[in-house]
Amino acid sequence: MRRTALVLLCCLAATAQAADVHLLTAARIHTSDPARPQVEAMAWDDAGRVLAVGEAQELLAQYPDAERIDAGEASVIPGLIDAHGHLMGLGYALMQADLVGARDKAEVVARLREYEKTLPEGAWLLGNGWDQNDWPDRTFPTAADLDAAFPDRPVWLDRVDGHAGWANSAAMKAVEAAMPGRTLAGDWQPDGGRILRDGDRATGVFVDGAMDLVGKVLPAPDDAYRAQALERALAAAARDGLTGVHDMGVSAGDLALYKRFADAGKLSLRIDAYANGDNQALADLCADGLYRHPGGRVQMRGVKLFIDGALGSRGAALLEDYSDEPGNRGLLVTDPATYEGIVRKARGCGVQVATHAIGDRGNRIVIDTYERVLGDEAKSDHRWRVEHAQIVSPRDIPRFAPLGVIASMQPTHATSDMPWAQDRLGEERLFGAYAWQRFLHSGAHLALGSDFPVESPDPRLGLYAAVTRQDRDGQPPGGWLPDQRLSAAEALRGFTSDAAYAGFDEKQVGRLAPGMRADFVILAEDPLAVPASRLDELRIESTWVDGKPVYEADHPAKP
Ligand SMILES: [Zn+2]
Repeated sequence: MRRTALVLLCCLAATAQAADVHLLTAARIHTSDPARPQVEAMAWDDAGRVLAVGEAQELLAQYPDAERIDAGEASVIPGLIDAHGHLMGLGYALMQADLVGARDKAEVVARLREYEKTLPEGAWLLGNGWDQNDWPDRTFPTAADLDAAFPDRPVWLDRVDGHAGWANSAAMKAVEAAMPGRTLAGDWQPDGGRILRDGDRATGVFVDGAMDLVGKVLPAPDDAYRAQALERALAAAARDGLTGVHDMGVSAGDLALYKRFADAGKLSLRIDAYANGDNQALADLCADGLYRHPGGRVQMRGVKLFIDGALGSRGAALLEDYSDEPGNRGLLVTDPATYEGIVRKARGCGVQVATHAIGDRGNRIVIDTYERVLGDEAKSDHRWRVEHAQIVSPRDIPRFAPLGVIASMQPTHATSDMPWAQDRLGEERLFGAYAWQRFLHSGAHLALGSDFPVESPDPRLGLYAAVTRQDRDGQPPGGWLPDQRLSAAEALRGFTSDAAYAGFDEKQVGRLAPGMRADFVILAEDPLAVPASRLDELRIESTWVDGKPVYEADHPAKP
């Protein structure tokens, strides 16, 4: 980048217009535009709008005074969009003890002891990312596993899927102190959740709605902490080649934080925020209309709702019993009548609905509800979405496309869940599990994401998982349920143009064509040509939003 030269040009040139043009050349630019899928050069203006794409000679002749950026042998793709993530969740996770990949409880405790050194006396020790499926005995942990190392300091650790939490005894004591006249013992259960018990004593694990009991007593993060968390999340996203995210479940307070960052020019990521259920943010949308920041980096025009839990913690609502727990069909976290009421309210306000549905029963309830609420208007441009659509009855998969419902799916969930998904579901139900190709064949739009921080935000891992359906060691050979693998081009479309469509952004981003925003990623190699086994290792040279770099490998931003 010759920034100095650019400044001189802009001030001395007789025709300011020419100097304000930036011209990128590369071995190949994949535009995701069917009209012109591959070019060598792209020009954009200072406002970050693409002016032209084409052959290098053609554009060099057309814009002789443009600032030249020569990416050499590199490949360029449209900026990657994660169609389902949790930006503040990622930020908070980056501020907490990281338990992802811990191979047993001893490793969890060891990591917590190390992290504890950074904490002031008496502060809660927060961590996330544990997964009992990674441990030798695969059973849920208990408070006792933490109490020896942390007898006094309260400890609260989110499971990797965010649908269960693990507390020590000090944390449970704090919970009980906040509920006078009641204890965690007994046989009562909170709405939409489960306190795991041994006899009548709480073990320390809280599933779905029961996690709120602990959530309520956690010290609230202050403004400075939240801003720091957001900065960390933005830096991580830019490093991973993300230029956009659909942020699922944003409070009015978090939206205000995003606006502040956008006003200050500190928002390096385009955020499509979805309101967090039937709360203040949705009320604001209904009162004031859909929101769009003038700079184009933040919008809120949708709401994120939940119908069920997750498969790992057996909270996903199934039509039949869990294969590995007879009598359990999972749980609905929202009562279907209440859910339908909120969907109708959103419809009335012109708000796009996105619903978390993992189990086949959860998915059926959502599709039935969408069908009833949309009625004759299924053909309108509503773009309602099902988030995860993870286990869907073969009867329901073909219902998405005619209703205009988008399947928003996460390739890395399939490869994370594949070691135990068949235990939970049995073989027959796998037909509709993580069934990306069946959705594509049915004509549904398939938007791809990661659900970070449940999974890594790195979209290269998503591309790799989508194309291989293997873990990063290449297992199982040929991939898990390999007929559902995507091609590299299909996977890239899911992370670019189809993700943009799911956010009503397809006229702005997701393709590189005249009039579009210059959001793109420069990669050392061609993602459509490298062997699938190497998609997770593609080197990101730089990430650009509105024609300006937000990450450069050679000039990494400070953490
Ligand atoms: Zn999520």
